[in-house]
Amino acid sequence: MYVEQVEAIPLRRDLDERFANAQKWIDSREYCLVRITADDGSVGWGECWGPVAGNREIVERTVGPWLTGRDPRDVEAIHDELIVRLRSSYHSYVPASVVSGVDIALWDLYGKALGEPISRLLGGRERERVRAYATGHFWGDVDSFDDLRDAVVAEATGHVEAGFDALKNKIGLARHFPWGPEEDVALVRAIREAVGDDVRLMTDANHAYDVADARRVGRALADLDVHFFEEPIPPAGIERYARLNDQLAVPLAGGECWAFRDEFDRVLDAGAVDYVQPDVTSAGGVTSTRRVATMAEAADVQCLPHVFGSAVALAASLQVLATIRGDPMLEFDRTPNPIREGLAVDPITNDGNSVPIPDAPGLGIEVDEETLAAFRLD
Ligand code: CA
Repeated sequence: MYVEQVEAIPLRRDLDERFANAQKWIDSREYCLVRITADDGSVGWGECWGPVAGNREIVERTVGPWLTGRDPRDVEAIHDELIVRLRSSYHSYVPASVVSGVDIALWDLYGKALGEPISRLLGGRERERVRAYATGHFWGDVDSFDDLRDAVVAEATGHVEAGFDALKNKIGLARHFPWGPEEDVALVRAIREAVGDDVRLMTDANHAYDVADARRVGRALADLDVHFFEEPIPPAGIERYARLNDQLAVPLAGGECWAFRDEFDRVLDAGAVDYVQPDVTSAGGVTSTRRVATMAEAADVQCLPHVFGSAVALAASLQVLATIRGDPMLEFDRTPNPIREGLAVDPITNDGNSVPIPDAPGLGIEVDEETLAAFRLD
């Protein structure tokens, strides 16, 4: 079996209404998928984090010619060689999203070649379904804090009515609005009061704070029984994370901005977070995410992959989640998104508070060609 063709497939959809997190307004959802075709005609799908530009060119012009002729079943060796090769090509920078997208597509091919879901190739399935937490609770264009809070609380109660018993909301309002940490805490308090004490509540600052504000907010979040406090400060400060994690009663979470084994090794070694969140589309694909999960197990830290992609990213995350020890949860994006919902012929959806993990070969999904055609950029 060998790789015959490597393609980058750009998808994009402009949102009907833009929404914000602590760092940016989001007005479209854009994905660079990777499609690798093998000599036997089988097809593997992957997904790169981030914009199409950059990912597309490196996948097709740099990785494609190099990967052609290789055996997809050598995926872990290819993953490691690709990191070295791209680092030497781009000097100090490794396009982790490209490695990730290519790696996922190779795992999909490998699973299809063996007729097994990727989770079986990773050592076997610990579970057939995984508890899911509803993520979303972004902010729209509003004039008052009351309007913002009411919209977020309405969304939260909607998720609970849909069967979820775990939610994650966004805080860090100060960049876009005339409100700050006090309103951030008030927002979490309003959600807690609306959904009650039995719902697991997490909160995500998208590294909005400095250390002092992170400490102040973290103390308040502990009083609201917040399960974890995600990305309180910028991701570069691994030692600062570790100090903050020591000082706060609320456990810290983070990982979507880190990549590959070495960086996560520093994170885990420092005790920077109590929940580690590699993203399969940016941490280095299935290979690196599974490695991080193994390292986290050894450090007694729960691995909870970050997920905010299309159905391909969701399916790849579920294959890894099937194998993670402990009590993992799926981050389940609930923002309206026909690419995520429609890209799999059988959409991945929640059944109450959990999501069944596909068990068909490879990623376990079939990509819907009509959805693909409808949102293709080229
Ligand atoms: Ca996050």
